[in-house]
Amino acid sequence: MNTQSRIKKSKQMIRLVRPFEVSTSDLIYPIFVREDGRRFEIPSMKGQEYLSLNDAVNTCQKAVDLGVPAVMIFGVIKGKDADGSVALRKDAFHLKIFKKLKAEFGENLVLISNVCLCDFTKGEYCVYTENGKVQNEKTAEMLGKIAAVQAEAGADVIAPAAMADGQVRHIRSALDKSGFDDVAIMSYIKTDSCLFQPFFSAMTQSETPRVGVDSSKFRIDIINEKMYMQKVDLDVSEGADMVIVKPALTNLDLIAKVKQQYPNVPIAAYQVSGEYAMLKLLSEHAHFNEDTLLMETLNSIKRAGADMILTYYALHVASLISHSRERASGP
Ligand SMILES: [Zn+2]
Repeated sequence: MNTQSRIKKSKQMIRLVRPFEVSTSDLIYPIFVREDGRRFEIPSMKGQEYLSLNDAVNTCQKAVDLGVPAVMIFGVIKGKDADGSVALRKDAFHLKIFKKLKAEFGENLVLISNVCLCDFTKGEYCVYTENGKVQNEKTAEMLGKIAAVQAEAGADVIAPAAMADGQVRHIRSALDKSGFDDVAIMSYIKTDSCLFQPFFSAMTQSETPRVGVDSSKFRIDIINEKMYMQKVDLDVSEGADMVIVKPALTNLDLIAKVKQQYPNVPIAAYQVSGEYAMLKLLSEHAHFNEDTLLMETLNSIKRAGADMILTYYALHVASLISHSRERASGP
């Protein structure tokens, strides 16, 4: 008999020698809160719902009860405008979300704000453009302003999603100047991917396709690891406290690479809407168990080096973990 056989002798032995298990404290739950207050299933993301602000309070309470430490907030507003300045109005819906959730949950739940122009602009573009060119500074400056008002309303973490160069620098400076130097920045670093599509369908309100510039001009070419690491270098040097690798499944090697180069920077991985949809579809049409497949993917993301995982399954995973603890047996 060799070591392999000895350490695989029983289920408990296998658990004992594990270097990690996905735990509830790793999870971040993304939620979609609608200003029009309508609650219904998101057509492109079966099993996930749009929430009213009151529903969001109930959902966040569930997260707290299950021990999930954080939510990522996506606000779906009624009246977008040309340049997104609706985000800065005193009665902006996002500010209401943060005020309400902060008042309800205080320090019991980390409120992460997804900050991007597309949440507020009529054309639903992520960055300002001029003659087909990305206006990085102008975009980053606006993201800084949005970050500052959202921090004032109660956001604990700002997650800039526009991928504009300089966005972390502008946001850090805007937060510090407004007295929110305790608000962290968790910077999205995305490869260009079709796996975002179900999410875009969920967030898009207009019948017409999104306008502006080709996303390959501000996201990273999935084939190019050097281009990816350049962006990580930039965002970390500008003051990102944490980074989000997105999507997770197609970028496991990049998670490992970021961990290797930045061992002291917490890494989140985003199991995006397309990954969620794939898991749902596969489980429906193939002969295996959805939970088994789900835990397999989450554990591979953890093994690659993620400290945190954003997943639409967060509450489900938390309840699976709590049930498996009750049964006192391994997953
Ligand atoms: Zn965007």
